[in-house]
Amino acid sequence: MSVLGARKQFEEIAVYSPGKPIEELKREMGITEVVKMASNENPFGASPKALEAMKEELTQLHYYPEITSPLVREKLANRLGISPDAVVVGNGSDEVIRMLTRTYLSPGEEVVMASVTFPRYKTNVIIEGGIPVDVAMKDGAHDLEAMLQAITSRTKMVFVCNPNNPTGTIVDKQELQMFIERVPKDVMVILDEAYYEFIRGDNDPNSLALLDKHTNLVILRTFSKIYGLASARIGYGIMHPEMVAELLKSKEPFNVNRMAQAGALAALDDEAFLHMTLEENNRGRMYLEEEAEALGLSYFDTHTNFIMIDVKMDAELVYNRLLEQGVIIRPGHMMGYPTMLRVTIGTKEQNEKFVESLKKALAVS
Ligand SMILES: *Cc1c(COP(=O)(O)O)cnc(C)c1O
Repeated sequence: MSVLGARKQFEEIAVYSPGKPIEELKREMGITEVVKMASNENPFGASPKALEAMKEELTQLHYYPEITSPLVREKLANRLGISPDAVVVGNGSDEVIRMLTRTYLSPGEEVVMASVTFPRYKTNVIIEGGIPVDVAMKDGAHDLEAMLQAITSRTKMVFVCNPNNPTGTIVDKQELQMFIERVPKDVMVILDEAYYEFIRGDNDPNSLALLDKHTNLVILRTFSKIYGLASARIGYGIMHPEMVAELLKSKEPFNVNRMAQAGALAALDDEAFLHMTLEENNRGRMYLEEEAEALGLSYFDTHTNFIMIDVKMDAELVYNRLLEQGVIIRPGHMMGYPTMLRVTIGTKEQNEKFVESLKKALAVS
């Protein structure tokens, strides 16, 4: 217990464990060459247009930012064909998750989510005194039928991370639609689409089109992944304007700083950067898949900028052997996949470095 005694639910919560920072590994190992493929950041950096806009905005740093990020809302609304009133901008989509639980969840209410999925859902549910209800996945993907079955009269929310972190898998778009049809109207369905832009083929769930009919639907997206603005902290939620109005009451007033707002606006105009990222990501994914197959390893079908590979060995051991070679990935043992690694798809050089290091890590017995 802490000196003054935090609320009881904090006993259940651990501090978020991020991918190991590059600086930390350099200090620990005394090495200079470190490759971080652990947090699904954009390996090509941020859009040059965004960086330029952020630099310019620095001259305004002493002024508080506008509290609702109105220009970002408006631009997103135009792009997405929705009303600006349906958009709430957060300090990363992490903050939008928190606004949702803060605003809508009462102690004792249940929240259905996949096991395993993005850990911030559970943490925020517990903070509010809610009850997380884990539903096992099927072959690394959400089991929507089982999630429906898990909904009771006490359920307030359901999280569907699509594509899912850490597995990279998506749900079938028809199944998702049917799922949303069947969830009771008073249960919020939160579709976390942090990796939306990476969805391949004709698998786009077209979730925005469902908003009109389903006022209980919330869609989350972010500038942290494909847009390369992870450290700027800006993401957004799309939902019924009445819900946005409620969230605006619970959010910190100056949640999104000026540089983040300026960077996001410019990033939205940098089509070239987006296309390059997507193309390189596809190339990197195919390379990693081929190399995994050549090593006799399996992997989940990913629609993101990361891939989960089954190394058929103790993931923690392989993780440590990769660290020794200056390669940071995420081991699956902390996420319920004790023989799998989650690897962010990197630049060509990073991917090659990972494969080379992985071969060494697997060869040592
Ligand atoms: C990265 C990520 C987020 C959070 O992104 P922000 O940086 O807070 O915008 C949300 N959901 C999933 C599934 C993620 O992987």
